[in-house]
Amino acid sequence: MGSQMPYGRNEGMYPHGADVLERDSSDGGFSRGWAMHCKPIPQRYFDVHTHFCGRTDRPVAGQIRGCGEDAAELMNARAMLILQLRGKKRGAGWPPASVMDNFPYYGLESMRAGLEGFERTGQLWAVHLDCRSPEPELLRAAAGMGAKCLKLHNAPAIENNIPPDVWLSRDWQDVFRAAAELGMFVLFHVTQRLSASAYTGGGRNSYWEKGWANGTAYTNEDLLQAFLSCCRANPDVAFIGAHQLHLGWERLDGLFAAYPNLCADTSIGCQLRLCDSFYPHDREYLRLVFQKWADRILFGTDSVWGRSGAGASGGAGAEAGDGVETDAGAGAGADAEAGNGADAEAGNGVEASAGAGADAGAGVGAGVGLDKEHCLRHMRFISELDLPEDALRKICHENAERLCRI
Ligand SMILES: [Zn+2]
Repeated sequence: MGSQMPYGRNEGMYPHGADVLERDSSDGGFSRGWAMHCKPIPQRYFDVHTHFCGRTDRPVAGQIRGCGEDAAELMNARAMLILQLRGKKRGAGWPPASVMDNFPYYGLESMRAGLEGFERTGQLWAVHLDCRSPEPELLRAAAGMGAKCLKLHNAPAIENNIPPDVWLSRDWQDVFRAAAELGMFVLFHVTQRLSASAYTGGGRNSYWEKGWANGTAYTNEDLLQAFLSCCRANPDVAFIGAHQLHLGWERLDGLFAAYPNLCADTSIGCQLRLCDSFYPHDREYLRLVFQKWADRILFGTDSVWGRSGAGASGGAGAEAGDGVETDAGAGAGADAEAGNGADAEAGNGVEASAGAGADAGAGVGAGVGLDKEHCLRHMRFISELDLPEDALRKICHENAERLCRI
C-alpha cells in the first residue's frame, strides 16, 4: 500500500542512529520509521583533558568521587586526570611564577600514596612535568604507577622567559623517546592566544603579560615551530595540541596532513553555549573538518576535578608538605589567579565553582562536583555538528581509548 507521505532517506546529509536504520528491515520492516528522527549518539565520552586540583595529603580517589558521579550522569565515562609531578629542580630556586602553581605538585612518594585505590575509580591519569624538569626517570616512574599520558605546558616557559627550544634539548628528546618506549602520548598546551575570548571565558594576554614583564620576546609561532620539531623528531609519539593549538581549522588542516602523529583536543575552543546554536555556514564547515579529521580530534574539556577550595587552602599544600608550600603565597596566588587560571587554562565557569569552594571553605573531598555546564557546552558543540556515528565515536572516546590502549 503506497503512502501519501513518503519519506526518503538522505543519510549522507542527515545521519541517524544505527538502530533507526536497522528498523528499516528488521522484523520485516515492521517498525520502520519508528523514532525516525533519532540521531547517532556516542556510547560514552572520554575527557582527555582534566586537572586535579585537590590535596596531595590524601588519596585522589576520594576527592574526585563527586566529579566522577557528575561526569557519569553526562555519559562522561572516563577522564584523563592531570597530576603534577615535581622534578629535581622543583623548589630549588624556581620563581613561583606560573599558572600551573595553582595546581598542587606531588613528589614521587606522595604521588604513590595519593594513587591508593585510584584504579578503582575507572579514571586514568596523566603526569605533568614542568619544562624545567626533563627527567625520563620521572616519566618511567609515573608510567610504572599507571600514567598513560605526559602533559606539558608552555605557561611556565612564557611567564619566565624560557626559550621555546628548551623542548629541543637532548634531555627533553630523551623524555619523548621514553614516552615512545612506554607507549605514552603527549598532551601539550603549546601556545596562548593574545586576544580575550568572551564566549569561552578566556582572558587577554594570559601568560604573555607576565612573560613580557620578564623579557619574553618570542611569539606563538616560535612556540608552535618548536613543538612541530618535536612532532617531527618523534614520529612514534602522538602529540595532542591542547586548545587546538589556538589555531584555526584551515591551518590545522594543513598541519594534520603534514604531521601524521599530530592530534588536537576540543578543549575551550570547541564550545557551544547552551542558549546558542551554530550559524549554518559555520556548522557546515566544521562538520566537514570534523569528519575529515575524525581520527585526530579528541574530546577534552580542561575541567577541574577534586577542587579543594584551593584558593583558600594554601594550607592544603603546606600541610601536605609537598611542594606547594615552596611556592610562597600559593594560597593567595591560587585565590587571586583562580579566575586567571580558569580563563587561560580551565575555561569558563570554573571560576564560579572555585569561588564557591573557597568561600565556603568547604569542598575538600567528594562533595565538590564538576562544572557540568562547562562539560555540556563541549558536548553540545560536538552533538550539534550531526556527525555520522563512526566519526562521533572516534572523537568522543575511541581515539583516546586507542591511545591509552584500552
Ligand atoms: Zn589544561
